[in-house]
Amino acid sequence: MYLEHHFANLGEAFYSKGLIQPLLEQRLVEFNQSLAAFLSIDIKSNDTKRILSGEEPLSSSLSMVYAGHQFGGFSPQLGDGRGILLGEVRGQDGLLYDLHMKGAGPTPYSRRGDGRAVLRSCIREYLASEAMAALSIPSSRALALYDSREAVYRETPEPGAMLLRVAQGHIRFGHFEYFFYQGKHAELDQLIDYCLEHYYPDCLDTDSPIESMLIEVVKRTARMIAQWQAVGFQHGVMNTDNFSFTGESIDYGPYGFMEEYQPNWVCNHSDYEGRYAFSRQPGVGLWNLNCLMRCFSKHLERDRLIAILQRYELELQSHYDSLMMNKIGLHDEQDLQVLLPQLFTILEAEKMDYTVFFRLLSHYQQGDFNLLLDEVVDRERLSVWLENYEVARNKHNLSWSQVSDAMLAVNPKFILRNYLAHDVILAAEQGDYLPFRRLLNVLNHPFDEHVESNELAQRSPEWAKSLEVSCSS
Ligand code: AMP
Ligand code: MG
Repeated sequence: MYLEHHFANLGEAFYSKGLIQPLLEQRLVEFNQSLAAFLSIDIKSNDTKRILSGEEPLSSSLSMVYAGHQFGGFSPQLGDGRGILLGEVRGQDGLLYDLHMKGAGPTPYSRRGDGRAVLRSCIREYLASEAMAALSIPSSRALALYDSREAVYRETPEPGAMLLRVAQGHIRFGHFEYFFYQGKHAELDQLIDYCLEHYYPDCLDTDSPIESMLIEVVKRTARMIAQWQAVGFQHGVMNTDNFSFTGESIDYGPYGFMEEYQPNWVCNHSDYEGRYAFSRQPGVGLWNLNCLMRCFSKHLERDRLIAILQRYELELQSHYDSLMMNKIGLHDEQDLQVLLPQLFTILEAEKMDYTVFFRLLSHYQQGDFNLLLDEVVDRERLSVWLENYEVARNKHNLSWSQVSDAMLAVNPKFILRNYLAHDVILAAEQGDYLPFRRLLNVLNHPFDEHVESNELAQRSPEWAKSLEVSCSS
């Protein structure tokens, strides 16, 4: 493993030095071999193993300082309260990737927290990041999971764990807010130059590199959120300190994948006002970008910042429309604009499972009404919709089986249902990681049939509706 230290070279205004503090009787229980190969990391090497787990202290490891708007209120100083950045490694695509340990022990930014993470939340993050990547949504990844015999106290004592994460960047919107509101303009400039050099080098060749970079950030954020909406993912804590400047989905806490179609669904039980409800995510993305743009008010005129922001809605809408067009198997945008709202009304009224419906629709063949009608109470309403849908699909010269194959490649059979995560966590807490691995395997290839794992594609049982997830665990 060749570890580089570009962020560390920025200097101590950007972080506090610190070490991973290993847990009691820590064990490496899961390691992502294909990601490791991509990053040229050989886990069989003892030196590498010891550096990654924190048993071998690394003098340049650090926790980052940042700020953030949390649930609408500004916190002038946050930071990695339980995270340690080991450094960067180069991937086979030539890009640099951060190695970041979560749950690594207290740091100067821990506030009242203990710096730790519980096994439950590490498993949830592991599964979510791998599931998102397999759905082609830009995301931090999970490289390794460590469990331990150390008790971490939440509502009750729980097994402590650590998760080694990989992302292109861990620089958040909140990083810019920290330096801007502290009036640290030289450091803000340094951060901007760092991002241009490392994440947006193409923008350096343009007439206005900062503007070009912000346009790209807006585009990536819009596309990421369009993908969340299309797949039914809800982040749960869209604070600006959880929004990456590289446009990756990061910091998976009380997230959820939508089951019954319900636009006002709020997955995070600590989000009492529903600020981050599913249907509000696109608007929150804009709100967060607006916070980010303010930090550039000394670099670009107001009108130009507004013009950059105005690209967001168009980018999000057009990307969402093209994703939905593929999901539903249509080729004419006008048909989509008519049929999709009608379909959503039906799905909501029927409390239909979002993933199951689109998967069934992918298998649907002309005239095969019962396949879908058996799923609903109001058969008449859905059959009218299906008739119109067939007319729209028949407008084009593509065969039904061609379209069906294309739909099966974008409508997953398997998504990370809360109860599935819950079940594998219970087993892992008893030391049995087989159910976790089995679930991970289908989530890694969510469009394949995996007939032997059909039960993992089922709707949630009734008891699962009472499962709750909430902030920081
Ligand atoms: P989150 O919403 O989970 O991303 O966390 C918000 C902030 O709280 C971040 O700065 C975290 O580092 C910090 N934090 C969360 N949990 C803990 C913990 N157990 N100990 C210390 N800091 C924490
Ligand atoms: Mg966070």
